[in-house]
Amino acid sequence: MQDPLKNIVSLCKRRGFIYPGSEIYGGFANTYSYGPYGAELKKNIKDLWWKFFVQFKNDVVGIDGPILLHPLAWKASGHVDSFNDALTDCRQCKSRFRVDQLIEAQLNKDIEGISLSEMTEILKDDKVKCPKCGQKDFTEARHFNLMFQTEMSKTDKGHNIAYLRPETAQAIFLEYKNIIDTMRVKIPFGIAQIGKAFRNEITPGNFVFRVIEFEQMEIEYFIEEKDWKASFESWLNEMKKWCDLIGLNKNKLHDKEHDKEKLSHYSKRTVDITYDFPFGTNELYGIAYRTDFDLKQHQEFSKTNLEYFDNVLNKRFIPHVIEPTFGVERTILALLCDAYTEELLENNETRTVLKFSKHIAPVKIAVFPLMKKEDLKKMSLDIFDQLKKLYKVEYDEAGAIGRRYRRQDELGTPYCITVDFDSLNDNSVTIRERDSMQQKRIKIDELESFFQKEFKI
Ligand code: ATP
Repeated sequence: MQDPLKNIVSLCKRRGFIYPGSEIYGGFANTYSYGPYGAELKKNIKDLWWKFFVQFKNDVVGIDGPILLHPLAWKASGHVDSFNDALTDCRQCKSRFRVDQLIEAQLNKDIEGISLSEMTEILKDDKVKCPKCGQKDFTEARHFNLMFQTEMSKTDKGHNIAYLRPETAQAIFLEYKNIIDTMRVKIPFGIAQIGKAFRNEITPGNFVFRVIEFEQMEIEYFIEEKDWKASFESWLNEMKKWCDLIGLNKNKLHDKEHDKEKLSHYSKRTVDITYDFPFGTNELYGIAYRTDFDLKQHQEFSKTNLEYFDNVLNKRFIPHVIEPTFGVERTILALLCDAYTEELLENNETRTVLKFSKHIAPVKIAVFPLMKKEDLKKMSLDIFDQLKKLYKVEYDEAGAIGRRYRRQDELGTPYCITVDFDSLNDNSVTIRERDSMQQKRIKIDELESFFQKEFKI
């Protein structure tokens, strides 16, 4: 079967968005490197998220916590004991699989919550085949912790193992007290963070959908218990507004409510926002009501009082938490899947376009002299120098103008400006819009105000 992401993966490589990691060494599975346009795209997503969820809100502050936390924090959060997947190996071809995925795919059976021995029984039943070699010879199911471990050179009170954080959330809980003590916040309020997380996933794949090193954008919103339902709904709504802002196709987004009995150990309600990826409908984002689980656990393990004092009601309590969480890589993949378009033009040529929303497009404007003539070049470079202070702009003078347009289409650049011979007399240029390919003339001294309007959020 053809990989449904083949065209996107190939465009990402060809155009400098995403490269396979450590390629000159033959690759390093499920790691990726973001090239110049991928890095811009990623930065635009993170900057816009920060604007929308921190800068535009009166009740959310941002932090940038460490990747390495005190090892006890991971014991308190439950990750050391229960952040596991059950795995099995095929004895014949030595491939490794997640048991739930194997059984779900082949027997159409959801096995969440069942024990390792029950899983082993199902594997022994001779109904599940190795997807790689077709044999039915699996090892017993066993737990595999998804946290990456590393060793510290200096032992800190006997803790010489440290974990690379598998989620950004815990770094937020560890700073909750500092934020209360230093920031004059009042409940309800949120703490936001963008940062790397690491998971030793057993079966990663589907390009950047499931990788071992990724970035999360998370908010922990601290509330009184009685407000959790309203707060949950309102944050779910904010998440949808975000999806709209970055231009995700509404018809491909769905809410998936987690069944009560399958909720994570800390959650009383979880909803995934799923997206119809070409390889299937899967989690894009999530929102969870984490109760007061995390703060209570950290209070117990750290022996630090984490109560909040409400001086109006004159009472102390441990706040409850609503957590909206967003993966950067999955955002990028969904945006690429939505944006990737092949169009047959009148001249029978195929045009490949990334129809990114203007707000996240890696390059906003490209400036071209129609031909490599000194006076056209000078005028183009003047425009480029003026606009580059405001936006990510490219200057390109190489090759036929049609080829230059195609290149920018593949990068998803919303506007191209062309300086031609008329420009030298009328101080106007042609602006071509990416999706409609319509062109119009505009005075050079009106360019800034034109783009200011176009790129306004
Ligand atoms: P899944 O069920 O797909 O493994 P999850 O429920 O474990 O995901 P969360 O723990 O809720 O995911 O993580 C929050 C967000 O982080 C997810 O919604 C997703 O966008 C992102 N994410 C999680 N794991 C990965 C990964 N291995 N690669 C890329 N992004 C990820």
